[in-house]
Formats: sequence, structure tokens, C-alpha cells
Amino acid sequence: MIFYGTKIFVKQLGNVHQAAVCGHCRAQTGHAVIRHWTWFTLFFIPLIPLWKSYFVVCPGCGEKTKIKKSDAKKMISQ
Ligand SMILES: [Zn+2]
Repeated sequence: MIFYGTKIFVKQLGNVHQAAVCGHCRAQTGHAVIRHWTWFTLFFIPLIPLWKSYFVVCPGCGEKTKIKKSDAKKMISQ
């Protein structure tokens, strides 16, 4: 039997310097920018990197909003 699947590695890239209002809980806080990096795994060992996704996360409610890579870079370098 072959065990395969995917695993997501999460990394916090930085914080958005400008406070923003969360679209979910309406809190005005500094949001975090995170990257999800999905890998193909074989027998639970990550072998092949598949894709990266970028999100802005509200620290209050944990709401994630998907953003583009270019926007993620802009948000943390401002
Ligand atoms: Zn929120």
C-alpha cells in the first residue's frame, strides 16, 4: 500500500504595517501575512513542492483572506 497526500507548511512572513478593519469581526488591528506552501508527500515525507498561497490573517478572529503574492510583498514592505 502506498501512502501519499499533501502537507501544508505555514510561515508567517510579517505583519501589515497599516491597521485594517477585519471584514469578518470588524476589529481594527494589525493583520499578519502568512504563506501556505503545499507539498506532495509520499509515506508522509514531503517530496515535491506544489504551490504557494498567500493570506492576510486577522489576529482577532482568525479570518483568512487569500491575496496575491505581489500584494503580500507590498503589504509587508511598506
Ligand atoms: Zn477578524
